Amino acid sequence: MSATTPGLVNAHHHLYSALARGMPAPPSTPTTFREILEQIWWRLDLALDLDIIRWSAMLGALEALESGCTAIVDHHESPNAIEGSLDVIAAACAAVGVRVVCAYGVTDRHGPDGARRGLDENERFVRAGGRGMVGIHAAFTCSDDTLAAAAGLAHDLGVGVHVHVAEGVDDIDGPRRLAGLTTDDWLLVHCVHLRDDAALRGTIVHNPRSNMNNAVGYADPARFANRVALGSDGIGSAMLDEFELAYARLRERDVTATPTTAWSWVEQSWNLVPEARGDRVTWSYDGVADPWRLAFTPGVRAIDVDIDGAPALRNGLATRVDGHEVRAKAAEQATRLFARL
Ligand SMILES: [Zn+2]
Repeated sequence: MSATTPGLVNAHHHLYSALARGMPAPPSTPTTFREILEQIWWRLDLALDLDIIRWSAMLGALEALESGCTAIVDHHESPNAIEGSLDVIAAACAAVGVRVVCAYGVTDRHGPDGARRGLDENERFVRAGGRGMVGIHAAFTCSDDTLAAAAGLAHDLGVGVHVHVAEGVDDIDGPRRLAGLTTDDWLLVHCVHLRDDAALRGTIVHNPRSNMNNAVGYADPARFANRVALGSDGIGSAMLDEFELAYARLRERDVTATPTTAWSWVEQSWNLVPEARGDRVTWSYDGVADPWRLAFTPGVRAIDVDIDGAPALRNGLATRVDGHEVRAKAAEQATRLFARL
């Protein structure tokens, strides 16, 4: 039995949400997905500044490393701190040692100027040599012109688009509006309400825990012909946990389903950041590479992580940053953030 795997990949994350835990309760209890966005995430993202983004990303990257995740595909939005935000996230991940693919989620929620500045941030970051994609929040918060502009920019930059698709019923019309724009390098996130025959091109990212938390329904990703990868949608980067959840949810739907199907979604995630295959994680459990064992072994921990051939975690502790200092600074920024909500 082997106790090692390559570095795991979180195919959809929101590093800016790392400080959201413990935030003040919203004015009223959200009862729909739309209200969860309006009362929690769209209030939070307005309050972000570059210092909050920096320490939120540092904490999120640290937690990824501690979970054996060496590569994050991030989707970011901070309407009052757009310019330079992707540099801040990339620098934070680099300090911890974790790989990141950045994207700024373009939206028309703040008018055409907000959308333009979002597009510009994606373009500026990638043209300056940053590893990125073009982000779109979701079709239901964008005009057709903005969707076309984002797709065109991604084509010009030679990168894919990272977009939420049909996560809730509010975006039920999204797939129709994206049809004709998608290419194989797109990341189509959630796809809970995407029809099997929608024929959108790209990798579908399944986020089982987040979907349950938002009560949006089961995406049933095994039904699609597309590649499927696994993401956390902002709830840490413990990808073995996401695998176990993905398996349990799959099995709830189909008692003949096997852990190998859910593990294939972990493997597909490596196509998004192929270098992570060369990273090495040593785990607390020696059956970690066998999906049939792992699916029934909660609580497996990363002990050592090597990224790019060099140590990044030893005995569960980060080697390139002081984990206690990161948590203390993140807590200071969380206090600032909560005071703004
Ligand atoms: Zn998301």
